[in-house]
Amino acid sequence: MEKRVVCLAGDGIGPEVMQSAKRVLQVVERLYQHKFHLQDELFGGAAIDEAGQPFPARTLAACLASDAVLLGAVGGPRWDQAAERPEKGLLALRKALNVFANVRPVQVDEAAAHLSPLREEIVKGVNFVVVRELTGGIYFSFPKERTAEQATDTLTYTRREIERIVEYAFRLAQSRGRKVTSIDKANVLESSKLWREVAIEVSARYPDVELEHLLVDAAAMELIRRPSRFDVIVTENLFGDILSDEASVLTGSLGMLPSSSHSESGPALYEPIHGSAPDIAGQGKANPVAMLRSVAMMLEQSFGLEAEAQAVENAIAAVLKAGHSTADLGGTETTVSFTDRVVQTMEEQV
Ligand code: ATP
Ligand code: MG
Repeated sequence: MEKRVVCLAGDGIGPEVMQSAKRVLQVVERLYQHKFHLQDELFGGAAIDEAGQPFPARTLAACLASDAVLLGAVGGPRWDQAAERPEKGLLALRKALNVFANVRPVQVDEAAAHLSPLREEIVKGVNFVVVRELTGGIYFSFPKERTAEQATDTLTYTRREIERIVEYAFRLAQSRGRKVTSIDKANVLESSKLWREVAIEVSARYPDVELEHLLVDAAAMELIRRPSRFDVIVTENLFGDILSDEASVLTGSLGMLPSSSHSESGPALYEPIHGSAPDIAGQGKANPVAMLRSVAMMLEQSFGLEAEAQAVENAIAAVLKAGHSTADLGGTETTVSFTDRVVQTMEEQV
C-alpha cells in the first residue's frame, strides 16, 4: 500500500512526538511492505516564525492532496503577544478539511490507573469513545452579536448535521460495544429536542445497537461516577468540548490520549489531545503514547490497516506493562528511549 501523509510537527513537544510517530511509521513500512510518503509542512507558531502565518497556502495544498494529516501540537507562550495566533491555524485546518466528527477514545491503561484522581475501582475497565460534532452549534451559528450591554450567541443545528454525526457514532458502536449514549439538553433546548428526535430516527437503522439518552448535566456526573458504563458517547460541539476534557482526566496523563477528526470524504486529521506542553518542550520528556496511538488510529481508520494498527497498540501496551514509562507516568524513559522500546517490541512481535 502506498500513502501520502502530511506531517505537521508544530510547536513545543510537537516535533518531539512527531519524530516518534515517523519512526514507528517507518517500522510499519518495513515490516509490512508499505510505502508512506511522509511530507513535512510548516504549521502553527513554527509557520508564523518562518512564513508569517500559522497555516500557509503551501501547507493547505499539501493537506488537501494527502491521504491523511498527522499533527503534533500548536501554540505556546512565545506567540501570546504575536499578531498572528498559532491556534487560528488549527481552526482553519479543521475548516479546510471539513472534519465534522472529532473522535476521542478514552481508555485507562493499567500502567496509568494509579495516576487517575479517581479511585482505581471506578476507572478500571474504562473504555469508551467520545464523538464530538466539530463544525456546527453555538461556536459557528449566527447571529453572533455584541454591544456594550448585551451579547448574543446562537445555537443552530440542522437535521443533516445531526444525522451525519449520529450516524458516525452508530457505525462506530457497531465495531465496539454496540451502545450509543446521546447527550443533549432536550428538557430546555430546541436544538437538543431535534437532536434527540434525529438520534431516535437514526437508531431505527441500527437495530443491533442500543441507544440511550442522557442530559448533559447528568452525563457530567456519570463520567466521574460510573465511567465504565459508556461505550460510544455522541454529542454536539460545546457539550463535546467540555465533556471530552472532563473524560481525559480519568486517565491521569494527557500524554496517553489520541484523537481523530473526520470529514465525509477526504483526508482525516490525527493528533494527540494534549497541547504543546511548553513547560517540558525540548527536554526529551514528552510521552509519545498519545501520538503513537494517533498513528494507530490513522493506520486503521484512514488506511484500513488493522493488523498494523494493532501491532502498534500491542507494542505500546507491552512496553507499559513491562514497567517502562515517561516521567508523566512516574517512569524514567525519555521520548526517544520509550520509542526505541516500542520499535524493538514491534520488530520482535512480527
Ligand atoms: P493547549 O492550550 O495547547 O491545549 P494546555 O494548557 O491544555 O495546552 P498541554 O500542553 O496539553 O496544556 O499540557 C498540559 C500539561 O500536561 C503540560 O504542561 C505537561 O506538563 C503535561 N503534558 C501534556 N502532554 C504531555 C505529554 N505528551 N507528555 C508528558 N506530559 C504532557
Ligand atoms: Mg488544552
